[in-house]
Amino acid sequence: LSDKLDKALHVLKGHGSITEVNVAETLKEVRRALLDADVNFKIAKDFTVRVKDKAIGQNVLTTLQPGQLMVKIVKDELTELMGGDAAGINLSGAPSVILMSGLQGSGKTTFSGKLANYLKTKKSKKPLLVACDVYRPAAIDQLHIVGGQIGVEVFSDRGNTDPVAISKAGIAHAKANGYNVVIIDTAGRLAVDEVMMTEISNIHKAIQPQETLFVVDSMTGQDAVNTAKAFNDVLNFDGVILTKLDGDTRGGAAISIKSVVNKPIKFIGTGEKMEAIDVFYPARMADRILGMGDVVSLVERAQEQFDEEEARKLQKKIAKNQFGFDDFLKQIQQIKKMGNMKDLMGMIPGAGKMLKDVDIDDDAFKGIEAIIHSMTPKERTNPSIINASRKQRIGNGSGTSVQQVNQLLKQFDQMSKMMKMMQGGGGKKMMQMMKG
Ligand code: GDP
Ligand code: MG
Repeated sequence: LSDKLDKALHVLKGHGSITEVNVAETLKEVRRALLDADVNFKIAKDFTVRVKDKAIGQNVLTTLQPGQLMVKIVKDELTELMGGDAAGINLSGAPSVILMSGLQGSGKTTFSGKLANYLKTKKSKKPLLVACDVYRPAAIDQLHIVGGQIGVEVFSDRGNTDPVAISKAGIAHAKANGYNVVIIDTAGRLAVDEVMMTEISNIHKAIQPQETLFVVDSMTGQDAVNTAKAFNDVLNFDGVILTKLDGDTRGGAAISIKSVVNKPIKFIGTGEKMEAIDVFYPARMADRILGMGDVVSLVERAQEQFDEEEARKLQKKIAKNQFGFDDFLKQIQQIKKMGNMKDLMGMIPGAGKMLKDVDIDDDAFKGIEAIIHSMTPKERTNPSIINASRKQRIGNGSGTSVQQVNQLLKQFDQMSKMMKMMQGGGGKKMMQMMKG
């Protein structure tokens, strides 16, 4: 998936603004990528139409390439599609009753344990687990094992075959014993059928839970949507739990389910262990589906650090030939704030591109900074006054050599010249200079 999108976004690179033509090509690839991730056809199509409307005609910020801006638009739209902000869980009851629903094998029992553990350790709650899977004795054992692992009590009634009665008894037990959350684990079947739906619906009506959660295996792809719809029609559930996101999974289920039932995804399961639970963050999921979290956050960091105003000021300075070592130092510091050098080089206007050409890595900055710090303010704004004795002094002061000082001065001089040329729109001159 990520490869495809990478390719798609490549189409946009090098173009100055987002136009109908390059957007169409990119969105075709985005749509294909979504379909590959098992997103429903119509949802994928609607999605790309919306992104297109947003993208066309947007001016590309000086610091962003069109491709990067497209990534951002796609990501924002995907985030919104999956629910915007993270949705919490309703814990207002006394006790709060949480009902699990879903197919057999979706991960209900495992997630019941994870949620109990999460509420106990992160929210200082006192949860009780209730075993309502009456069809397999092993299911009750499984919940007891889970409860034992996390130190949470499990209520069960092995002789009883009526899940409604057990769940009621469980809630009564919780009230009598000071539990403030009751998590009801239920039986599922391998596919949607009448018996299962009637049973879960009966439990739901009888106990009227604060929170009804639908648990779904994220690896089931398109089927997940149909199952979600069937359960939602009967239960009108409050939220979705997406399990098994740790495997080689198709995150597309998150998009499709949200679009079809319009209920928030609340938690994700990322492993078999009790700690493998995470609050669902739509933005993170968008990153995951796009498979380019790094690119997206780079774009965001670039935006934070280099607002347009700053870039404009810098360009003015360059144009007036006033770009000095102080500005250079500021740029270096900004670059460093943003994180890893190599990834970021391409994003910095003017000087950044030049720095890339002279191939400076992270460590090289240490020496450069030391040298600039050893310069007087006069020397920084007017490097031409730096003669042999000044070079000696700067070298000594910065713990470098005259040679290194010379090298930096030369690089800086080259850089200034090149920046000046770029400013003047001197593309041709630039090419000539590069050719030698
Ligand atoms: P239930 O039938 O709905 O109660 O499903 P279970 O809780 O018994 O889970 C079925 C299988 O999926 C078990 O082997 C679990 O260990 C496994 N499982 C559940 N959640 C996850 C998850 O988030 N990641 C992985 N890798 N496995 C999970
Ligand atoms: Mg189970």
